[in-house]
Amino acid sequence: MKKFLCLLLAAASLFAHATVLAKPQSKTKEPPQAVIEDDTASIPSVKIIRVLLDEQDADQESKFIIKSPHGFVLESPTESNNTAVYQKPELHLLCKDKTLYLQCRDHRYRRIKYDSIEICSPQRTLTMGGSTYQGSLVIRVDEENNSVLVINKLPLEDYVYSVVRYESIPSWPLAMQKVQAIISRTYATFLMQQARLKNPRFRYFDLKNTNIHQVYNGTHNYTHLRQAVDETSNLILTHKGNVALTMFDICCGGAIPAHMRPKDCSKPYLARQKRCTFCQTAPSYQWKEDLHITAFLNQLKNSPNAARKLKHFNGPISEVKAFDCDKAGLVHRIKLFDKNNKAFTLTGNDIRTTSPHKIKSLSFNIKKIRDRIVITGKGYGHQRGVCQWGCKEMVSRGWSIKGILNFYYPGTKLSRLL
Ligand SMILES: [Zn+2]
Repeated sequence: MKKFLCLLLAAASLFAHATVLAKPQSKTKEPPQAVIEDDTASIPSVKIIRVLLDEQDADQESKFIIKSPHGFVLESPTESNNTAVYQKPELHLLCKDKTLYLQCRDHRYRRIKYDSIEICSPQRTLTMGGSTYQGSLVIRVDEENNSVLVINKLPLEDYVYSVVRYESIPSWPLAMQKVQAIISRTYATFLMQQARLKNPRFRYFDLKNTNIHQVYNGTHNYTHLRQAVDETSNLILTHKGNVALTMFDICCGGAIPAHMRPKDCSKPYLARQKRCTFCQTAPSYQWKEDLHITAFLNQLKNSPNAARKLKHFNGPISEVKAFDCDKAGLVHRIKLFDKNNKAFTLTGNDIRTTSPHKIKSLSFNIKKIRDRIVITGKGYGHQRGVCQWGCKEMVSRGWSIKGILNFYYPGTKLSRLL
């Protein structure tokens, strides 16, 4: 720590403003009023979440520009109450040959002796790449995976406030936003536990900021969403005392998860037996994609997975047939026939990932009609857990938040994070 601080001070002294000070204390807030009673035991939890914002190849040179009008507080990767101040509105960092460098006043980059640096702002927000983040940013060299990671560390409740904006529609009713806050908090908590207990890949972060996990893009101006977060503060769903994996998607299209394959028996609450009929007026309840056979084949060949399987495909497409579907209607395997009538097998996912915003789920029928491939489908997403459009409709019909959660995740209970 001493060496690190000396280095930071050496760099910062070029600005003649360097000082050492106690770590700033976060402001205390009035505890928000929860409107939903919890009915099970409390779950101990870590309250700071680590979100991966960016990952760069460590063999390439990477530059990071972070902005904060009132300067920065820099911290070493070790636990300490000491920090160094860096009084400029912009901070430039460089990673080259797996080493971090900080740009000083003379515009020269000086080496940081540690493999990570944590950057905070006295104003509690930092801007990078057009987005503004609460909490701190950590730039870390991950030698094991040959990458440079940019991680945002922030309180879980602030993270949930951001995610509700990006994973829901801000104009939807408050009760819907509360459901979203509970399931996003639960999903994040589940991944935080997994990351810290088991997965070495997630040693430095808990989850990613994309729809691989949950979309997170920092601060926003939809302040009315704060009410949904505050009034469900620390509430999560549990199953038999464990944090639930609260998957959710945009529209289930009426598919019954219990009839899907593969069925994860360790999470029975994701295998709902009841059909959701609440999303039938949703824009994605039914959809259609219609492509010329050449355009469809080109689309497949632009996707690495499908292209590998179609390496010897001799076009044009003469026929297409879905031959492996589950009871819920999801397509698992498809045969594509070339002009010699030779069959090539693709997965439903191979088809879907070529155009995930148009081929919106695996619940589809695929046909060749003359020189067109016509795909008609239902739902948008993976069709497990909360169906957001269905949930919105249930709210408008007067269902309670607990009733909705119990419908989509049967057997779960509301619990409180300590
Ligand atoms: Zn639905």
